[in-house]
Amino acid sequence: MTCLKPEGSEPALAGKDGADFNAAEIMQPRAPAATPAEFKNGERVKSNDVTPEGVYLPKYNILTPHMRSPDYVQMSTAAAITLGITNGQMHRCACTRCLNLLLTYPEGCRANCAYCGLARHREAERDYADRNFIRVDWPAVPMDEVVDIVARDVEGSPFHRMCISMITHPRSDDDTVTVLQKWTDRIDPSAIPISILSNPTTMTRGDVKLLHEMGSDIFTVALDAATPEIFDRTRGKGVQSPHSWKKYWEILMDAREIFGPQKFGAHIIVGMGETEYDSLNLVQQLVDLGGHSHMFCFFPEKGSLMDHLPATPRDQWRRVQLGRYLIDYCDARVEHMKFDEEGRVIDFGLPAAELDMIIDTGLAFRTSGCPGKFADDISACDRPYGDSPPSNIASYPFELEDIDIRKVRHQLDRNRPGESYHQDEEFEFDDE
Ligand code: SF4
Repeated sequence: MTCLKPEGSEPALAGKDGADFNAAEIMQPRAPAATPAEFKNGERVKSNDVTPEGVYLPKYNILTPHMRSPDYVQMSTAAAITLGITNGQMHRCACTRCLNLLLTYPEGCRANCAYCGLARHREAERDYADRNFIRVDWPAVPMDEVVDIVARDVEGSPFHRMCISMITHPRSDDDTVTVLQKWTDRIDPSAIPISILSNPTTMTRGDVKLLHEMGSDIFTVALDAATPEIFDRTRGKGVQSPHSWKKYWEILMDAREIFGPQKFGAHIIVGMGETEYDSLNLVQQLVDLGGHSHMFCFFPEKGSLMDHLPATPRDQWRRVQLGRYLIDYCDARVEHMKFDEEGRVIDFGLPAAELDMIIDTGLAFRTSGCPGKFADDISACDRPYGDSPPSNIASYPFELEDIDIRKVRHQLDRNRPGESYHQDEEFEFDDE
């Protein structure tokens, strides 16, 4: 099989100098550079003031139109393909099951998270609506058009869930409410459940309550960092960004009370300098509170303050991915696992036969996120290739086949007797 070769598709099986984990010392973001005044706050887009017309595909126009939520939202390339707004094919995926809608403004996100393509420090380099985010472009589409398309055939919709992703902007709280209202006016939230990926920095408990009352099903908080130190380094004071660990936890605990058990969760990125124990301890904490974790593998997003750093080695990622699945869905506990002096998992605390059976289902290695309509442990939000290139998949957006399981086992150093995996067994990439 052939497919388009995306940028940055080199395999990244090992970390710096062949290490099997991303150590804290090397995972240091660059300092953000100062932005000239003429580029600040989306000034270029606002002063050109080009009127938007219909769908805007990033980089296709020389002057980015002046688009704002709640009239406009951005969506992932996968969602745009599934919605029929753009053409394209995804390697081994027919569609995505989650319609991710991202609020958009010429001023962009006012935060500066070091791993994120949407961060404020990119103001001089690229207009907000043209920035790459989790490795792909995000077309901008009028919200009314999105609702029109989905409302035409809600029962037959490929989407199992819709998610509104807030960004850090003074209008974000109010506009999330308006976008949600536009959706629920025409689409029954019980037919396509709604998730909110929140921005705690600007939110109050009252905002969380209102979003719940309006029909949202699940509320998530993107902690992203597994420890307060890494949080501060990558999305707080360390990079001139406004977020704080304390405020994120406040809103997470509000969501716990308001949305209830199994209806709240947190995002965690693996490989930003935390130990495997740190990540799994946080997963356990969330489960004990009654919530879930949604996990991402660190990938050096082009243009971000961490784009010079190594992607998470696959061994570290697979161990944490498996540990997280065991804690979230198999009643395993972090206290029963064993870790070495570097915090790496050396024993998952389960009998080998049981562990093998769970590995062979492949479920632990699929993209994690809010559930769709297939099963509680199959995410609607499959984010195809959001945290890796297709040549070296981190989160599988589809059901794993035999070759995928053998690859994962190889990465976990748990080959079955007589079995192996070789990269050249896989698909070819070319430039078609
Ligand atoms: S708040 Fe979210 S969108 Fe904004 S820079 Fe941070 S991670 Fe990116």
